[in-house]
Amino acid sequence: MKTSTRVVVIGGGVVGCSVLYHLTKLGWSDVMLVERSDLTSGSTWHAAGGFHTLNGDTNMAALQGYTIRLYKELEEITGMSCGLHHVGGVTLADNQDRMDMLLAERAKHRYMGLETEIVGPDEIKKIAPVTNVDGVIGALYDPLDGHLDPSGTTHAYAKAARMGGAVIETHCMVRETNQRADGTWDVVTDKGTIHAEHVVNAGGLWAREVGAMAGVYFPLHPMEHQYLVTEDVPMIVEMMKDGIEHPHVMDPAGESYLRQEGNGLCIGFYEQPCRPWAVEGTSWDFGQDLLPDDFDKIEDSIEFAYKRFPDLERAGVKNVIHGPFTFAPDGNPLVGPVPGMRNYWSACAVMAGFSQGGGVGLMLAQWMVEGECERDTFAMDCARFGDWITPGYTRPKVIENYQKRFSVSYPNEELPAARPLRQTPMYDIFDQMGAVWGAQYGLEVPNYFAEGDEPRYETPSFRRSNAWEATKREVKAVREAVGINEVHNFGKYLVTGANARGWLDRIMAGRLPKPGRLSLTPMLSEKGRLIGDFTISCLSDEAFQLTASYGSQAYHMRWFEQHEADGVHVENISDRLNGFQIAGPKAREVLQDCTLSDISDMRFMDIRHLTVGMVDCLVQRVSYTGDLGFEIYCDPMAQRSLWQTLWDAGQAHGMKPFGMRAMMSLRLDKFFGSWQREFSPDYTPGETGMDRFINWSKEVDFIGKHAALAEREKGAERTLVAFEIDADDADVVAYEPIWHDGAVIGFCTSGGYSHHAGKSIAMGLIPTDVAEDGLAVEIEILGQMRAAIQISTPLFDADGARMRG
Ligand SMILES: Cc1cc2nc3c(=O)[nH]c(=O)nc-3n(C[C@H](O)[C@H](O)[C@H](O)COP(=O)(O)OP(=O)(O)OC[C@H]3O[C@@H](n4cnc5c(N)ncnc54)[C@H](O)[C@@H]3O)c2cc1C
Repeated sequence: MKTSTRVVVIGGGVVGCSVLYHLTKLGWSDVMLVERSDLTSGSTWHAAGGFHTLNGDTNMAALQGYTIRLYKELEEITGMSCGLHHVGGVTLADNQDRMDMLLAERAKHRYMGLETEIVGPDEIKKIAPVTNVDGVIGALYDPLDGHLDPSGTTHAYAKAARMGGAVIETHCMVRETNQRADGTWDVVTDKGTIHAEHVVNAGGLWAREVGAMAGVYFPLHPMEHQYLVTEDVPMIVEMMKDGIEHPHVMDPAGESYLRQEGNGLCIGFYEQPCRPWAVEGTSWDFGQDLLPDDFDKIEDSIEFAYKRFPDLERAGVKNVIHGPFTFAPDGNPLVGPVPGMRNYWSACAVMAGFSQGGGVGLMLAQWMVEGECERDTFAMDCARFGDWITPGYTRPKVIENYQKRFSVSYPNEELPAARPLRQTPMYDIFDQMGAVWGAQYGLEVPNYFAEGDEPRYETPSFRRSNAWEATKREVKAVREAVGINEVHNFGKYLVTGANARGWLDRIMAGRLPKPGRLSLTPMLSEKGRLIGDFTISCLSDEAFQLTASYGSQAYHMRWFEQHEADGVHVENISDRLNGFQIAGPKAREVLQDCTLSDISDMRFMDIRHLTVGMVDCLVQRVSYTGDLGFEIYCDPMAQRSLWQTLWDAGQAHGMKPFGMRAMMSLRLDKFFGSWQREFSPDYTPGETGMDRFINWSKEVDFIGKHAALAEREKGAERTLVAFEIDADDADVVAYEPIWHDGAVIGFCTSGGYSHHAGKSIAMGLIPTDVAEDGLAVEIEILGQMRAAIQISTPLFDADGARMRG
């Protein structure tokens, strides 16, 4: 056996084989895959082999599209068959909410180049005749849907990888992964030890056990899953005489997916009485095994399916496949460099290996070979969970995800499982004040505050929700008096040391502030993509506080650690520093009432240490609301005291608490971009206007400088702009297409309702040469074309007089 290699991929399921193939495709041929049994010995061999592009996350949908198109390429390279059946598929809607979801998906597909179509009941009956369309109001038809042979496809990946120089060692069990001081790995197998620069965990059903060998907890859990294959169905036999294969039918109401198998049908269920599998860990004795049939679990689902697909009831069951596969808490894969580890990569929790395996392999290989991926992978980045995650959280979340696999997923929905997990000292106070809670990165965050007999629950919807009045009220309080909310959901970092300034100057593209001041700066990847949007406060020449997105803590810390240097120390202090933001015309008066220090000379973007009430605080004069505002940071142990001081003083000035819904409305008044919406690795500084924060004159070769300079020279081809929309009861969420002269010219990055201006607003990217104030476009919201006008004057405080005054 080969004992030294650049990469060892652990696991020969469809995902491991795809990673191996993509590494060779991108030029790394000294790579190896180790499989404890035969290839496909985990979930892969018993998969139903279905594939589809539909995914709520746009980048995941694009990667699913890539995966599906890849199969032809694999067949051509290897001469092997993947057993492809490109039969197309319909996803049914039996109520308006489901239809709204499909309309929103269809709209996104327009600029992604996916040829999906909305079809009505009559057409559904023609396309998919086994369907009883009673109660169905429409469907999304996707010509790319289909199925394949799971084993043949995995072996085709393996052959293509071998053709690129990879070595595959089967019947070779990995028992230990031990890291050497230089960051390389000894992979101990029962056939000997392999020395490798990198390790990839593609252990599928055993990914938890493989991770534990390196001391890493992977937040995933296996679930049992069942599908049935019927005897011949006369309607299918008849269709096959004309050479017509029946397409797939996804029936969310029945939580089922159906396709043709031979001359019969195959139907699988995401049943509500679902069961997690191998709670204590996956046994090494489990191999190409199936679980005992369990019809009780799917009894209700079958009953529903008999109504939707009456032919099923008349066909005998030929085969039952009941097996386990893994999920992460949100159902998306866990991919990328594992935070806190060197040269250890994840390719786990891929619950739809035949829809996603190709994309996962491509992204991971790009990351390893080229240092970064071509698109934003955050939706599947293993760094989207922090070290707060535990098996106790993962299991209920995975069950919830399984149960909701076919549910409508609403843009404003807050899922209830495994909550509350993390709360600040303000939780009970805000709860008593009517907080309606959301969760971010495991933390409870008030979305808004219900008053009187308003419900403590926001109705999930694609349209304007019942949070409307409360949000409006909170926006009004900020714009006309003063609002208060917590700064708990900011990621916060302390950068200290003699080299702190020098290091930050290289890591960040912007200007670093002098002591007592703060600045805003983008952080760029080598290829000049936006990987962070930071506020930097200079506490002293050797100490800086950074703030950024709360949900990106592991993502940002991983980057900082990858670029660690002598003379600088970076600490994640996100949960060790808390406090409040107060914003609005009365904010200064409130703060002045709470401190003996004179703050009248505190300028916009100044920072100062002040004693507020009894509490020593770091106060920054800045606010994401775009208003006159202060962020007041303190030790969480003193937070309730600080609250009492600010709240008591605020009463004379009409203070109200406000939540994230109001915050998102307020920032739209000023067209402020938001992380993961306007700013993400999908975009560049030139496209998003973040280039105005780049310090072009600094001598330091900051990361991403060459790419950013090249973009500046050439000019960005697309530009982020704002629109006012003639909307009705639904506003832009994200990724709605922007039409001009009958063609899609761009898409929205986010949007919402400006309660201050009483206008529906969207932000989006369109070609730079088309963008101009007053440009008339149409934005497709839930299948309806809405007239929109490009606007460039902020809706509030256009000259910044209030914010800076
Ligand atoms: C009933 C059912 C139906 C499904 N239908 C579909 C479908 O229609 N479409 C779809 O896309 N997906 C489907 N899936 C999901 C699909 O099967 C998985 O997404 C996919 O198989 C995951 O592949 P993997 O490579 O990540 O993991 P696995 O297939 O579990 O592979 C992991 C491999 O790692 C090896 N391994 C583990 N530990 C070690 C070690 N220590 N040393 C060496 N080797 C090790 C194992 O032996 C195994 O071969 C279905 C799943 C089930 C259960």
